[in-house]
Amino acid sequence: TTASRNKIPATLIPGDGIGPEIVDVVERVFDALGSPYEWERRQAGLNALEQGGDLLPEATLDSIRRTGLALKGPLTTPVGGGFRSVNVRLREAFQLYANVRPARTIIPGGRYENIDLVLVRENLEGLYVGHEHYVPIDDDPHAVAMATGINTRAGSRRIAQFAFDYAVRNRRRKVTIVHKANVLKALTGLFLETARQVASGYEGRVEVDERIVDACAMQLVLNPWQFDVIVSTNLFGDILSDQIAGLVGGLGMAPGANIGDKAAIFEAVHGSAPDIAGQGKANPSALLLAGALMLDHSGLFNEAQRLRAAIDAVLATDSGRTHDLGGSVSTSAFGDLLTERLRG
Ligand code: ATP
Ligand code: MG
Repeated sequence: TTASRNKIPATLIPGDGIGPEIVDVVERVFDALGSPYEWERRQAGLNALEQGGDLLPEATLDSIRRTGLALKGPLTTPVGGGFRSVNVRLREAFQLYANVRPARTIIPGGRYENIDLVLVRENLEGLYVGHEHYVPIDDDPHAVAMATGINTRAGSRRIAQFAFDYAVRNRRRKVTIVHKANVLKALTGLFLETARQVASGYEGRVEVDERIVDACAMQLVLNPWQFDVIVSTNLFGDILSDQIAGLVGGLGMAPGANIGDKAAIFEAVHGSAPDIAGQGKANPSALLLAGALMLDHSGLFNEAQRLRAAIDAVLATDSGRTHDLGGSVSTSAFGDLLTERLRG
């Protein structure tokens, strides 16, 4: 009972497609880790729509409001029918302004070795605010398309502060501010100027660097090891986060975190993979690594490290790889290998 009293309440969302299979593995692996969390299972996505008529049920939102922490499987938003993306709704509902995407080499023999980068992307502002419209000319209703980007000083300060705090907390040496202030002088100039101000408060603790986004993209390919933490605005961050995932073998193993002041939601970057759902072929690594980010966020650095080490060790063996990695171990057997290793 001492253990259960110390457990941290957290929301667990199985989601769609392969979600339930990989969430099952997560639950078992976290048990083997010593169950730091007391899970509240809640529905969201297509399965929730089919069962209760709501893509994002109030009970799920309530749970996240209470726990402030969620680990979620992939969610499908139906195409057509005018549904807004569940992931975007969650981001807005909880003002999850920071998107954190680490990329770390786990399986050697890829194009690059020893990659260890973290991209921090502003998640609520910039060119993704959705202020778009057309201007008609003569008989063409779509003659001109326009999009408005919105960056605020407060939003820029908040994301820069998050990136520098993250660097300090996670013992990172450097933060690179990525912008396009030479062309988008107002929109990304404001971000750059504000991030520089924030950086000055961390002098002597974290090194600061700046890059124009196009140069950054090239240098990530030529010499990714020069980077450590990268912070950028919404659109650039979106593109660069997939680029750094590519440096370590693609989206299949990539975890992500969406963090706000009142809640944080952790997820795998991949989708619901309906083509392999229910076949025991899904690789649960990305969601497990998202679980490790959640442990970090809770300050449980030892548990996070134990989990990452166990995942690394299982994946280092040929018999510890799922179908997507060229192996033949099933989703649940992969979970068995991990729990055995964690229980020692
Ligand atoms: P969604 O519509 O939910 O985004 P999708 O099919 O567009 O789904 P993903 O789910 O990301 O996109 O899948 C892309 C490909 O990668 C699919 O062939 C899928 O089977 C594979 N894939 C994705 N995640 C995994 C995983 N965890 N394990 C194994 N294969 C995966
Ligand atoms: Mg997809």
